[in-house]
Amino acid sequence: MNFIDRLQDIADIEIERDAAMSAHTSIAIGGPADALVTVRGTAALTEILHRCRQEGCPWQLLGAGTNLIASDRGVRGLVIRLIDVSESVRRGVNALRVQLGAGAPLSRLLQIMREHGALGVSALAGIPGSVGGAVAMNAGTRLGDCAQFIEAVHLCDADGVREISPADLHFAYRTSDLPGGAVISGARFKFQLGLVEEIDAEERAVREAVERRGVSQPRLPSAGCAFCNPKGDSAGRLIDACGLKGRRIGGAEISEVHANFIVNRGGARAVDVCALMREAQAAVQARFGVLLVPEVRLMGEFDPGDLPERARFSSGLTNLVSR
Ligand SMILES: Cc1cc2nc3c(=O)[nH]c(=O)nc-3n(C[C@H](O)[C@H](O)[C@H](O)COP(=O)(O)OP(=O)(O)OC[C@H]3O[C@@H](n4cnc5c(N)ncnc54)[C@H](O)[C@@H]3O)c2cc1C
Repeated sequence: MNFIDRLQDIADIEIERDAAMSAHTSIAIGGPADALVTVRGTAALTEILHRCRQEGCPWQLLGAGTNLIASDRGVRGLVIRLIDVSESVRRGVNALRVQLGAGAPLSRLLQIMREHGALGVSALAGIPGSVGGAVAMNAGTRLGDCAQFIEAVHLCDADGVREISPADLHFAYRTSDLPGGAVISGARFKFQLGLVEEIDAEERAVREAVERRGVSQPRLPSAGCAFCNPKGDSAGRLIDACGLKGRRIGGAEISEVHANFIVNRGGARAVDVCALMREAQAAVQARFGVLLVPEVRLMGEFDPGDLPERARFSSGLTNLVSR
């Protein structure tokens, strides 16, 4: 019996072999993962991480797949997905504390905030994906980001779960610094409760943000913004100024609607997306002297020559010796 078969005895998990990552990423790209393991609770997660460590099986973490480009060749080892959507809400006089499992959709957090009149909804409105992904990526908008509302993060590794302070994750623009081998299993957020006028203003800001997204973002499958915005500028503006809107490689295209989105027009491969990213980086660097840093994360096996500059990979442990 091999490693993956032996995982079957763990309660609260489901295993899908040769799971096409294209079915699990918003951009609909990616070959098969050896196994997609869907995990319900932290006991099962700890056990899996423990066995991976013992047996040297690589693993990578999948949230809702809205910021990921998975390799055409797929992913060796396990892709782990958390579906813990547990929640607890504590309302105080001035503040609301919400604890959510990493598998909960971020939209659930926004729903709870709105039900209680918490402030900050407009900073996170419209961002797709899971709570775990939002924390790992420090997702946000120009009105704010996840980190500003995080009171505690629950980290799970092969030894169990522990609560850490957000300072320990060194949150920065669209990134966090997860300890190796650890997974975010949940987070506790703290929000100020608003006065009626403040809540009304917040709702207006949400409506405006949603309308803006409707016209400024493409409707075709994508992984969100390909690059982080350089300080004080916009990656989309720089790519657009290089005349790259509409540039296609294979089925991938630098969106006509927003130059920082690479869309899948049908049949796009991960290498096509990476090639467009390299082209955009080279053009922007040559014209503006700015190196665009990828915001999207890569998952799985890539040839080094195919990678964009400063490519960043999904959370996980891939440097273990494969079985
Ligand atoms: C149309 C569209 C619009 C978008 N708009 C925005 C926006 O306005 N602002 C913004 O910030 N982002 C935006 N994004 C990008 C994306 O939605 C966010 O980055 C989101 O937070 C990713 O969450 P996810 O669950 O999909 O994570 P995934 O894409 O699955 O994973 C992203 C990264 O997080 C890691 N990860 C996921 N879960 C965990 C976990 N539990 N523990 C440890 N690591 C984990 C993964 O390994 C990977 O490295 C957009 C994407 C799309 C498709």
